Amino acid sequence: MKDIRIPTCMDCPCRLDYEGSIGQIRDGTRMKPFERYCTATKRPKLIRKGYMIRKPPSWCPKRKDPCEVRVFGFASDEAEQMHYFRAATSGKVSPQEHRYKPVFTGTIPLTPREFWRRCHEYGADLGLPTKVELYQVVEIDDGLKPVCFYLTPNGYQMETLFDPNKTKKE
Ligand code: SF4
Repeated sequence: MKDIRIPTCMDCPCRLDYEGSIGQIRDGTRMKPFERYCTATKRPKLIRKGYMIRKPPSWCPKRKDPCEVRVFGFASDEAEQMHYFRAATSGKVSPQEHRYKPVFTGTIPLTPREFWRRCHEYGADLGLPTKVELYQVVEIDDGLKPVCFYLTPNGYQMETLFDPNKTKKE
């Protein structure tokens, strides 16, 4: 099983590496050379080193707790039939955004990583807040790095190319 890496401040576009040679006050915060700051807060806030490699701090303004979950189903009967036809003829078919639309929005007390680990431990029935049908896509958004999972006849698989923003509107 390929595990999901926990996103850290290192991956975040809101991280600022202060590279000045001397301290400087910026937006009310005294910045020190070689320190890193979060700019998603009201004033730049110092990020301690551990958050760079382990996980974002509990005060991270982008983090969603609980995570948001969205389920994408077929946008029409025609889209569904086409998908099933392609699955039957080619054996394997990836979800294409233009055939999908959001069918459920809610929250889930699992991060993408925890969800993925449970998929391997317990199979597809993971106590999601709604029933997920075959070939639907589940997106779990922790606020930092949303991950999509596609339900296939063999269980969930990670779907890195699926972009929920390109799906049809409800
Ligand atoms: S605390 Fe959150 S928003 Fe700020 S840099 Fe880290 S991950 Fe990004």
